[in-house]
Amino acid sequence: MKITNVEPFVLRVPIRRPIGDATHNFDFWSISGCWIRADNGLTGTGYTGLEGHGESLITDVIKDAYAPVVVGRDPNDVHAIWEELQWGKMHWVGRSGVTQMALSAVDIALWDLRSQAVELPLWKLIGGHKARIPSYNTDGGWLNWSLEELVDDTERLIDDGWQGVKIKFGKPTLQEDLQRLAAVRERIGSGPMLMVDVNMAWTVPQARAAARGLADSDVYWLEEPLYPDDVSGHAELARSINTPIALGESIYHRFQFRDFLVARAVGFLQPDVTRVGGVTEWLRIAALGSSFNIPVVPHAGDMMQVHQHLVGASANAPMIEYIPWLLDAFESPVRVDRGAVELPECSGATTTLRADAIERWRVA
Ligand code: MG
Repeated sequence: MKITNVEPFVLRVPIRRPIGDATHNFDFWSISGCWIRADNGLTGTGYTGLEGHGESLITDVIKDAYAPVVVGRDPNDVHAIWEELQWGKMHWVGRSGVTQMALSAVDIALWDLRSQAVELPLWKLIGGHKARIPSYNTDGGWLNWSLEELVDDTERLIDDGWQGVKIKFGKPTLQEDLQRLAAVRERIGSGPMLMVDVNMAWTVPQARAAARGLADSDVYWLEEPLYPDDVSGHAELARSINTPIALGESIYHRFQFRDFLVARAVGFLQPDVTRVGGVTEWLRIAALGSSFNIPVVPHAGDMMQVHQHLVGASANAPMIEYIPWLLDAFESPVRVDRGAVELPECSGATTTLRADAIERWRVA
C-alpha cells in the first residue's frame, strides 16, 4: 500500500443549540483535517476539532509541511512517519497547538487506512478490550443554559440511561455556580456521577474556596480548574481538596502528561486524540496513565468517532464522554444504547464523512 495523495478539508457542522462555557461560546463545530488516498483505492480520513478559528492554519501545515513527507509512503510505517513529522521543520515552529493538531489529523487518517486495509475496526486492530463502553453526557450542562434548562436536561439524560452528567462552571459568582450544582444534584439524586468543568478559569485560592461546595454535591471530578500548564498549582490543589482533578484536553504530548502524573497533580487523564498527535501518541499517554494506575477518560474533541476505538482497546479507560454534535457528519456515527457506546464492527476508524455532509458543510 502506497500513499498517492493528501487532500486537506474543513467542514463547519452546525450545533442544534448554541453553547457556552467559561472560555467559549459557539454555534458550530468545525473539523479541519485531510483525506489520505492510497494506491489500493482506499481513503483514510483524519481531523481535529475547532470552534471556528485556526482552521486554515491546520490545513496549511498539512498541505505545506506534512503531505510532502507522507506521499509515496506505506501507511503501515505509521510510527516512522510520526517521528519524521514531529522532528521535521515544524518542530521549530511549535510542538503544541497547531502543529500537533495537524499531526493528529494525519496520524488518525493513517490508522484509518491501516484498519481499512486489514478489514478490522480500529479497536480490534490495536487490541480489543471491551465492545460496550459506559458513557457520561456533557451536552446538558452548558453555562448558557438557564437553571431550569440545566436541571431539566441533566435529569432527562440520566433518565435516558447515561451514567453521569457534566456541568460547566463560570457564572459571575461562585455562589451561583454552586447553586446550579446543588440543584442538579438534588434533581438527579445521589446515584449518578456528576462532574464539574471550570475550563481553566480559576486560581488555586478560587478553587480551594469551592472545595466544600463540590464535596457537598459529591462531585466525581473537578475538570480543568487552573491554567493548563500549571503543574505545581494543580499538585498543590490536589493535596488540599478531596475532589479528584481531571485534565488533559489542553495539553499536547506525553511529556506534559508525565509531569502531571509524577507530581500527583491529576486523578483522571483526558488526552484528546485530535490534539495530542493522533492515535500513536494517545496510546502512549494511556500506557503512561496505566503505569500510575490513573484512569483515562478522553476529551471527546472528535465527538467520540475515534475515541470509542481507543477506549475500547484500553484496560484503564473505564468510560467515554458523549457530545452528539457531529452525528450527522459521519457514515457510521457513534451508536448509543441506554447510555453506553456500542463499538462498531465496520472496518476503519469510523471517520469516513458522508457525501451529503461534505457537500453541505465544506468550507472553501
Ligand atoms: Mg472540558
